[in-house]
Amino acid sequence: MSLRACRNDLSDYRYPHDISKGGSAGSPELLRHLRSFYLHESLKASPSITPRVEKAIQEACQSIKLGRECVEVFIFNSDQTNAQSIALSKEKCIVRISSRLVDLLSLEELRFVIGHELGHFIYEHSIKTDSEEGLDEEGFLLSKAAEISSDRVGLLACRSTLEAIRAILKSISGLSSRHLGDDFSDFLDQFKDHSSHYDLSSFFTSHPSFLIRARALLWFDLVRAETDPHRQAKKLQELNDRIRKEMDLVFDRHSRKKIHKAEKNVFLWLCLKKALSDGVFSKADQRFFTEEFGPEVSESLKSLISQQSHDEVAAFIEKELDRTTDNLRKVLPRKFDETMNRLKAEALNFQ
Ligand SMILES: [Zn+2]
Repeated sequence: MSLRACRNDLSDYRYPHDISKGGSAGSPELLRHLRSFYLHESLKASPSITPRVEKAIQEACQSIKLGRECVEVFIFNSDQTNAQSIALSKEKCIVRISSRLVDLLSLEELRFVIGHELGHFIYEHSIKTDSEEGLDEEGFLLSKAAEISSDRVGLLACRSTLEAIRAILKSISGLSSRHLGDDFSDFLDQFKDHSSHYDLSSFFTSHPSFLIRARALLWFDLVRAETDPHRQAKKLQELNDRIRKEMDLVFDRHSRKKIHKAEKNVFLWLCLKKALSDGVFSKADQRFFTEEFGPEVSESLKSLISQQSHDEVAAFIEKELDRTTDNLRKVLPRKFDETMNRLKAEALNFQ
């Protein structure tokens, strides 16, 4: 099966808030160097050297109908439980797995981890999902959404929800099978404990909590069990809405609020510029500002305008517009142009 067919097949399962567009992790030159570095410094999985890992790769690829030649897997020496994927091009990727993780995971669990990393490649996630450095508000939201999509590919590759959840549990806790039972219901019920609903969004994590990921996988399994395609699509949509609510409740609220506030600030100065284009801050203008931004904002704008000359006000608006626009670009770099166009259009017909 071709890579394009595989991407097409899996697009139905992509979490709809995962909308990051394709992009490369670096220049082709840099990526060649990186690969060469991995060839020297880590072990490339193959049937003769690492038969068990090779079996997991082949089975994972088969389950999601991806050609084995699309991926090279490297095992690197580390006590951490880490895995990562790097797209070398649109057609080829590298998956890196730490020795500790390989050691901990059963064949099925390895299929999940490999499938999850292949998910990042298949969906062409351009945001850095394995590093939190330098991520903006929009990046945090996208990166969490990307994990939900990739987990689904992991589950398809692994074919067992129990093994998939156990793989996540092992990578989070570092515990081996010796310490883990088969019944995760206690753990999944942790979400019912209301203290787990506290807003954690200020921690700025790029990954959704394990609790949310595990619950999302269980629900996804129920959706897949539905045989009627229409009912399945409907259930998948309900599931996606539910995940979005849970993520919002615990993690995403802060980022969304910050983006919303940045948009609103730009909108205010765009509207004021438009309102004053006829030279007066009319009663109708003031009513609009009171409704849209609150009476305090409207009042302070009114006194600002009355205390300064027309030119001074115009210069002030331009300065504030620059400042708020810069801020919006910082929190929403990917959708900045699209959002600016929308705000400008809305400001033009605000009355
Ligand atoms: Zn991931």
